[in-house]
Amino acid sequence: MNLSYSKEYEDFRHEVRSFLDENWTDADRASAPEADLQTVRGAMGGGIRKDQRATEFRKKAIARGYLYRRIPRRFGGGEQPPDALKATILAEEFRRAKAPFEIMGQGASMLAPTLVEKGSEEQCQKYVESTLLGHTAWCQGYSEPGAGSDLASLRTSAVLEGDHWVINGQKIWTSNAQEADMMFALIRTEPDKPQHDGISYFLIDMKTEGIDVRPLRQMTGEADFNEVFFDNVRVPVDSIVGERGEGWLVSRSTLKHERALIGNASLARRTFDGLIAMAQVIEVRGEKVIDDPVIRDRISTIEADLLAAEYNGYRLLTTRAKKADAGLSGLVPKLHSTNLVYKVSKLAMDILNDRGLCAPGEAIAPDMGGFSTAYMWYWGMALGGGAPNIQRNIIGERGLGLPRDDRN
Ligand SMILES: Cc1cc2nc3c(=O)[nH]c(=O)nc-3n(C[C@H](O)[C@H](O)[C@H](O)COP(=O)(O)OP(=O)(O)OC[C@H]3O[C@@H](n4cnc5c(N)ncnc54)[C@H](O)[C@@H]3O)c2cc1C
Repeated sequence: MNLSYSKEYEDFRHEVRSFLDENWTDADRASAPEADLQTVRGAMGGGIRKDQRATEFRKKAIARGYLYRRIPRRFGGGEQPPDALKATILAEEFRRAKAPFEIMGQGASMLAPTLVEKGSEEQCQKYVESTLLGHTAWCQGYSEPGAGSDLASLRTSAVLEGDHWVINGQKIWTSNAQEADMMFALIRTEPDKPQHDGISYFLIDMKTEGIDVRPLRQMTGEADFNEVFFDNVRVPVDSIVGERGEGWLVSRSTLKHERALIGNASLARRTFDGLIAMAQVIEVRGEKVIDDPVIRDRISTIEADLLAAEYNGYRLLTTRAKKADAGLSGLVPKLHSTNLVYKVSKLAMDILNDRGLCAPGEAIAPDMGGFSTAYMWYWGMALGGGAPNIQRNIIGERGLGLPRDDRN
């Protein structure tokens, strides 16, 4: 396997580095926590900063075609021919320079590409650029009590009255609804049609009268999730993306982008590197943890898994570079990488013992409380974008041709 880049790509890397050296200075790096935001909470849609300096920088990077390469220029994107290797080099170099990269969140990573694929020209003009720059924050209103894995059974409904839809019902687990400007939501508009056909994909202004956002406290101590109630919420008739009743089709596009967002092995690599750094410092009974043979055994098992995930990433990258369809193998990274981060943070918690119970930043466990947060977050991370069992069913049935699950 040859993992080196050709001269054309090394030249491109050089060009990107020069751009970064010129436009993102040491002072910017020192004052911006952007790279850190591209972590667990970033991937779940949290922590988007509306930061003027980051915005200026992103605009320049977009003008060079470095960011949002699949989004047309007329909607504020970088518009470049698909090139998986260039996209990888950009991600690597921006991370190395700790420069603001594409915003990872439900708006920029999921809604914007969905709008470009399925939305109207007006919807794209109105929302895409401000979303890519982090000026419009979105939340995702899919899940309901009783409609998670079985999403098509959702019951929040909209009825057409004149030139407005009137929405009633409830969403749940809505990440970041407390700070979102807008929601993209699946809502039943055709109650007489079969489940999947009766749903429309709405764009809803969160300031509309009748919307009530109630936070749900998580075990991390934060409250990033919410219940969102709709009580006779009136939204304009043109709030639907795609055709009325075809929301299920539109939502497939968003889900594809969500799984790609969560399934990146680089987060597992960073968490693993943090584990090694921690094991080199922490001592138990006068011995460095890294020298304990039992811990070394667990670390090497995890590292083997991590390398497998990274090589699978290269395999997918090669498939994409050849412009071939990766098929369902694209579903594997989400399943694998969330599992991996869980294993890394579980081992970290075992090593830290009662120190692992400290909150991030507490004097007794400086920087090490981060593992307890990662450990707790990853129970949720594995579920967001579709539960692991459902992912396994899809891979088994559609990818491996196994008999279908009993749906009764
Ligand atoms: C961190 C996080 C962020 C989220 N953010 C959002 C958000 O912003 N917006 C939003 O709309 N939703 C969000 N969700 C909700 C998420 O999409 C749902 O939790 C997920 O789809 C699972 O639904 P559920 O919680 O109702 O669990 P259920 O569907 O009740 O599943 C419970 C368990 O049963 C298993 N199960 C269910 N059906 C089957 C089956 N057919 N075969 C085998 N096993 C099965 C599942 O694997 C799971 O283990 C978020 C969830 C988390 C954890």
